[in-house]
Amino acid sequence: MDLTERTITQLIKIHGTNDPMRVAAQKRIEVLFEDLGKNIWGYYACFNRIPSIHINFRLDEFRARFAIAHELGHHFLHPGINTPFLRKNTLFSIDKIEREANRFAIKLIIGNSQPEYGETKKSFLLRCCIPEELHVFY
Ligand SMILES: [Zn+2]
Repeated sequence: MDLTERTITQLIKIHGTNDPMRVAAQKRIEVLFEDLGKNIWGYYACFNRIPSIHINFRLDEFRARFAIAHELGHHFLHPGINTPFLRKNTLFSIDKIEREANRFAIKLIIGNSQPEYGETKKSFLLRCCIPEELHVFY
């Protein structure tokens, strides 16, 4: 298990959920829904040690969940690092922290679900409602 997997296993154990909104609420990280225009999905901010996650209210339900989980990834994996806005093209970013946050998001959303015997990665991830464009991060 690497740091991302260990962090997620612990979070689910402590909080009793893999729902990014509920994890954020229990961690007292405010999630604010705002109009961030057409390209920005969200961002993470920490002022005076008070963390907050800002999410574009134009996103559909899955993308909003993914964006919150991605920003939680920055909170847990990249403390003190200034992180860029999450944009649609961030999904194809080669930047290490962005890829780590994407992977964190996918792993958190999957939670404790496991592939069934003989199930392909693709059908498992689709069963977990993960769109195909994100399978690369699993
Ligand atoms: Zn990011």
